[in-house]
Amino acid sequence: MPPIESGTQRFRGPVLPDGEPRDLYVVDGRVTLEHQAGAETAAEGWIVPGLVDAHCHIGLDDHGPVPDDEAEAQAVEDRDGGALLIRDAGSAADTRWMHGRDDLPRLIRCGRHLARTKRYIRNYADEIEPDELATAAADQARASDGWIKLVGDWISREEGDLAPSFPADAFAAAIEAAHGEGARVTAHCFGSAVLPGLIEAGIDCIEHGTGLDESLIDAMVARGTALVPTVMQLDKFPEYAEAGAERFPAYAATMTDLFARRRATIMAAYDAGVPLYAGSDGGGVSRHGNLAGEVVAMAGLGMSADDALGAASWRAREWLGWNATLDEGAPADFVVYDRDPRTDLGVLHTPVRVVLRGVVVA
Ligand SMILES: [Zn+2]
Repeated sequence: MPPIESGTQRFRGPVLPDGEPRDLYVVDGRVTLEHQAGAETAAEGWIVPGLVDAHCHIGLDDHGPVPDDEAEAQAVEDRDGGALLIRDAGSAADTRWMHGRDDLPRLIRCGRHLARTKRYIRNYADEIEPDELATAAADQARASDGWIKLVGDWISREEGDLAPSFPADAFAAAIEAAHGEGARVTAHCFGSAVLPGLIEAGIDCIEHGTGLDESLIDAMVARGTALVPTVMQLDKFPEYAEAGAERFPAYAATMTDLFARRRATIMAAYDAGVPLYAGSDGGGVSRHGNLAGEVVAMAGLGMSADDALGAASWRAREWLGWNATLDEGAPADFVVYDRDPRTDLGVLHTPVRVVLRGVVVA
């Protein structure tokens, strides 16, 4: 009789996205569906492929980069909330060391934000001028994990309103340079004016996207451009408007208008077929570990629960180059819940088990 491998764990229950009940066994950090003699049942419940936070910032606080131990604590909070794959949408801290830590989420770093001089949050970005943007984009593309992050628009004090950070031709050259290095490109975009040039230049993703209109949405659908709407973060727009109201009334009016029509804007993109993904914006202006809140917020706009959850799990995993489903041999990254999240997204706040690289981490 072959020796019984001690410590093999079994997870039992409906496995999403198809919801078929299965026994998943974890062997050497991977999923197998083959019966493993002597396996212990570690948890029963609804099993969801590891959640994806497509817009999070690890290594940042309100003032800029944080020390490694704080960055680690942020990553652990995100992990314990079920986010096992994180696209870091820009960080001033060098968090490459996290790739060597099996207990921390898988991390796709965008490197440092690329912003116009004095037109972003202090200590966050590489602040540059238009003629430097393409070179900086190529540099970040080489230093990151296959994505770079542009600050598409921000308040212009001269104009007193939101305005593109760079001219469209500088953005286009940056996108071309990053693509030339094999990286994908995303950009922070609140307003409308920056969007046509970025989408036309073949940007891969738009963050926030509150300035979208019908024709831009059609262009995104045609090109397959993704949208990470960060719905929770949009709730801060009234604060931004109020803070700017006295000195920058036009900016305040713009933010108020974008806020008022955010639901219509994002749902128009969803209904048209723009691929949407969930981003908590943890560490930017939101707290870490609350990807669940973003999925609930996306559903609150009118997305189906299945689509909102897929935007934070199987569809996002596929988009970022990871296994979408927990098939034979897939990395054992998944979260177990005691109720079906498709009928009660609120359960995402309270995972029963979080399994990362085959290890129960929470
Ligand atoms: Zn952000």
